[in-house]
Amino acid sequence: MEELWYRVALGMLLGLFTLITSSSIWRYNRAEKTSSRNSQLDRFLVLLNVLGMTVVPAAYVLTPRLDYLAMHLPDTVRSTGIVLYALALGFMWWILHTLGTNWSMFLELGSEHQLIRAGPYRYIRHPMYACFYLLMAAQLLISSNWVVGLFGLAAWDLLYRFRVPREEQMMLAEFGEEYAAYMRRTWRIVPKFR
Ligand code: SAH
Repeated sequence: MEELWYRVALGMLLGLFTLITSSSIWRYNRAEKTSSRNSQLDRFLVLLNVLGMTVVPAAYVLTPRLDYLAMHLPDTVRSTGIVLYALALGFMWWILHTLGTNWSMFLELGSEHQLIRAGPYRYIRHPMYACFYLLMAAQLLISSNWVVGLFGLAAWDLLYRFRVPREEQMMLAEFGEEYAAYMRRTWRIVPKFR
């Protein structure tokens, strides 16, 4: 398939990603937060991920400037990436819907924060973070580009490793034994089948 079609596909998927996440971001910006564990490093890593998930892939979609960094993956692999990205977007929609007003971009708790264990949260503690791994892997496959692929994956991996232990500490401090029991019952991003 022509390179143009992969640009169009990734461009459309990025548009859908923006559409799906924008209402949560809009609501989040207006919500009151009672406690926050934000750090400069967390903010910096979020910024890096905004670049890796939107700006860098948009540069691939809109200009041929990154083409010299092509990985030359076969069409079957790149098409699989399109399907994977679309499935991950559906998953993301389900997650955002389940988390509702409890979603936040940073480490924060809302004024009426609830511990969610329904929907995808029944199986893993961090479905959204798992979903970002899928999206970034799919982005690598579709773009078949070293910088678009590796920047997205590496930036996400850094934020994931930095954030998850801190997020779990925050949730433990807020929900105590309830969260501790939830932690015993589930794994982080891989479902635990008993
Ligand atoms: N780590 C989760 C949520 C990501 S959004 C996931 O990957 O799906 C990050 C915010 O979600 C955190 O600041 C915390 O306030 C909130 N959060 C994380 N797990 C939660 C849960 N089980 N129930 C409610 N809120 C949760």
